Amino acid sequence: MKIQLCLLLLILGVSVSCAPHAVVNKGSAKNTPTATATPLIIPPAPTMTDAQLLGFVRPPAMISDPESGHHALPAVMQAFWRFKEQAKTEGWNLILVSGYRSYRDQRRIWNQSDDSYLQHGATDQKKRVEAIMSLVSVPGLSRHHWGTELDISESSLRGQLVNVEPDTPEKVMRFYNWMENNAPKFGFCKVYLGENGAVHNEPWHWSFLPYSKGYQKQFMAIKDFKKIFDVNVEDVDYLMKNFNRILNDEKKSINSACQD
Ligand SMILES: [Zn+2]
Repeated sequence: MKIQLCLLLLILGVSVSCAPHAVVNKGSAKNTPTATATPLIIPPAPTMTDAQLLGFVRPPAMISDPESGHHALPAVMQAFWRFKEQAKTEGWNLILVSGYRSYRDQRRIWNQSDDSYLQHGATDQKKRVEAIMSLVSVPGLSRHHWGTELDISESSLRGQLVNVEPDTPEKVMRFYNWMENNAPKFGFCKVYLGENGAVHNEPWHWSFLPYSKGYQKQFMAIKDFKKIFDVNVEDVDYLMKNFNRILNDEKKSINSACQD
């Protein structure tokens, strides 16, 4: 059931699932004089308001990836482009599946997932919401609001976000291993390992650590989350009632290497 729903969500274009403090670009590719050989100078993280971290206001001056149309903060996108160039030299064609998402974007994804579960007979609210939360962040709590998070696929995966299961093809596993060994060189940290908390393993979700570590701290210090409990969010009553636990679970889900 879970896998079928997961596939369905993928068909809907929903980011589903069915990461170490990086030193950017130091000493990579010793014998390959590619763009990665030059250390990347990262400007200080743009100041972000709480409303921006919650997805209600766009982060400043984001840029878009011409290939996918997705947006991210400039340093994040530039790091991705350099990473993509390096990947190409090693036979991987990275595809950006998602970048910045607003509160509204996340609400649409959340509500679509909720509808899909209901259509599949998931009438028990607790079970339904807990299942959705393992795949899709609550609107307002998604790290994709920060402009620092990227979902990355590869052309041999046909641009899909493929779960790690016992029968996951060997090439997919090789790609994920390659990502784990190389993404940190460009500042990216694998956030969701699926080991603790509520969120499943998301081998495609990468966070630009030089910025997101600070934003994560600021986010966890937010006192007032009232604004995220929009009446147009499905199951908002459940989210309100269980919010402290949900927030705590979200924090626990994050790879300790991606936060202080
Ligand atoms: Zn993601």
